[in-house]
Amino acid sequence: MAKASQSQNTMETIVALCKRRGFIFPSSEIYGGYNGFFDYGPLGSEVKKNIKDAWWKDMVQRRDDIVGLDSTIIMHPDIWKASGHIDGFSDPMVDCKVSKLRYRADQLFFAPVIVAGETIGYVSVLEDKGMQADAEKQAEKLKRKLSKQGELAPIELKDYTQAKPEEYPLIPSPETGEPGSLTPPRDFNLMFETHVGALRDETSVAYLRPETAQGIFQNYKNIVDTGRVKIPFGIAQIGKAFRNEITPRNFIFRTREFEQMEMEYFIAPDDDQWQSVHQEWIEWCQNWLKSIGLPEELMGIDVHPQEKLAHYSRACTDITFQFPFGEQELWGIAARGNFDLTQHQEHSGKSMEIFDEARKEKYIPHVIEPALGVDRTFLALISAAYHEEDVEGETRTVLKFHPRIAPYKVAVLPLVKNKPELVEKAQVLYQKLQRRYNVFWDVSGAIGRRYRRQDEIGTPWCVTIDFDSLEDDTFTLRDRDTMEQKRIKEAELFALLDQQID
Ligand code: ATP
Repeated sequence: MAKASQSQNTMETIVALCKRRGFIFPSSEIYGGYNGFFDYGPLGSEVKKNIKDAWWKDMVQRRDDIVGLDSTIIMHPDIWKASGHIDGFSDPMVDCKVSKLRYRADQLFFAPVIVAGETIGYVSVLEDKGMQADAEKQAEKLKRKLSKQGELAPIELKDYTQAKPEEYPLIPSPETGEPGSLTPPRDFNLMFETHVGALRDETSVAYLRPETAQGIFQNYKNIVDTGRVKIPFGIAQIGKAFRNEITPRNFIFRTREFEQMEMEYFIAPDDDQWQSVHQEWIEWCQNWLKSIGLPEELMGIDVHPQEKLAHYSRACTDITFQFPFGEQELWGIAARGNFDLTQHQEHSGKSMEIFDEARKEKYIPHVIEPALGVDRTFLALISAAYHEEDVEGETRTVLKFHPRIAPYKVAVLPLVKNKPELVEKAQVLYQKLQRRYNVFWDVSGAIGRRYRRQDEIGTPWCVTIDFDSLEDDTFTLRDRDTMEQKRIKEAELFALLDQQID
């Protein structure tokens, strides 16, 4: 039996496993990679597809009140004017003039170092779960270097957007450790620009969408007019989004090209109704994450304080996840009022009102928006699934993916490869399974080694065809998590897979 799993899920081990087993590769690797872009390999593309399929099934196909959409990535640029992205979709950026590195000002933290009431200098760190300890270490070092005596005041970190102009020249660059090279923060628009048509001037500028949501709002009238939707109803979309992030980091957590799964849920503009619908969606999202295998104890909730909300926003709650590098947003659930539709009505001149048969009134609906990243979900799932276990003195690496998410559902392993009737029997089963599931075929190596290979890529079950199988038509079914083995008939195997996978 395995001893208790150890939590070895550091980013380095996960990144290395992803590369080694073909889940994720850095994009353009033969040219040295391209910062903020990643490719999904044979196993990664399966996991990613499984995440999207599970979301689509549960969010759209298994509900009566939500319909799907697949809109374009490049849309009329006026959409981004109306939505506020051209004027306001920016992050504060700061440059280090010496190292030429660029940081997000809200991810660069600083603090004065105060000894016996006197400010002797500043320290700076980049946002990270160990940043407080790191800043304290730097402060001690500065105190020693300047031979200051007396008590060091507690280090109170603030982000660079809160620095006063007179502090900019005093705050050291995180790269060089020296003050004087950081610029004041300035806004940097995150949208990627391109040009549409043969002429390249300011009239041909277009943008790669930074979110899928606006595709939903600009199609909302089409769907109301052609579908059978009635308030409350939702429109869901899965698709690529692009953000020229200043500091893409933490592997696939923050990238410049990623995929979103967004849904706009349209409701009547009641003052008291939106809170309960918002709450219902938060709970739905939490349950969905649990249903695909995220442990509850690694999830949290971050309610945005009123003063940090955009002017139109009524509330925003994030479901957070304890990634190996710290607790961060996974899924944002926002109550956006009727801001987007009102803006599109104003800018397009087209009415966005709906006639509510039940209430016999006309209005612009309000929305609740759960917005989730596919790639971030992938990272959460793989870091939760990663386990190293001590099995009879050896370390086994196992990805405990939920069967719905696992790239392969089952591996078919003929016990030996030089016994034609055994291999043939295994092939028949393999081909039958393949019609329904993604199945792995492996004939080479000792059976124990083959089991380990499947553990490492998260295959929930292995089926071994041995000499007894030729006699009694049963197979050995081996469970990934318990490593237990039992004899099973073909019909039982299909029933088990059917029940466990979905
Ligand atoms: P953050 O504060 O982390 O930049 P956000 O609040 O801007 O994220 P939203 O605009 O609400 O994010 O996007 C919805 C979801 O899309 C996020 O919860 C996240 O899962 C995903 N997402 C956003 N930006 C990125 C990115 N650069 N890379 C990968 N996923 C992202």
